[in-house]
Amino acid sequence: MTLPPIALPDEASLPFFKGLAHGHLSVQLCGRCGTAQLGNPECSDCGSTALDWRPASGRGTIHSFTRIHIAYHQAFADLVPYWTGLIELEEGPRLFGRLLCDAGVRPRTDGPVEVVIEQLGDEVFVPNFRCLADHRQGEP
Ligand SMILES: [Zn+2]
Repeated sequence: MTLPPIALPDEASLPFFKGLAHGHLSVQLCGRCGTAQLGNPECSDCGSTALDWRPASGRGTIHSFTRIHIAYHQAFADLVPYWTGLIELEEGPRLFGRLLCDAGVRPRTDGPVEVVIEQLGDEVFVPNFRCLADHRQGEP
């Protein structure tokens, strides 16, 4: 199996990747203002460094999406065509992930999703997002 290019954890994001390895998505919460974020060394809202990682709900909505028809890396050759999207988590932060939709189901903006953590290698885990039921009522 050829692994796709992946982000390498740094000091600020390592807890995020460790959370995925333990089966959950996590976000940072600012101890001063309560803003949720992902992988920042300091709060994006108030600048505080008092950030703690907490498990996230794993639920969110689609902010935007597109369908990928060309495999730009051989690791994706068996996946095309596939949906990918920018997901806004219930806690607020946004991140990209592949969208897993049932056959014939098209994602829609603001459609609900839930995280599905995929293991790609011994220590490589990525968040994908499953399209939830009401996508069937979305765009044709
Ligand atoms: Zn803050």
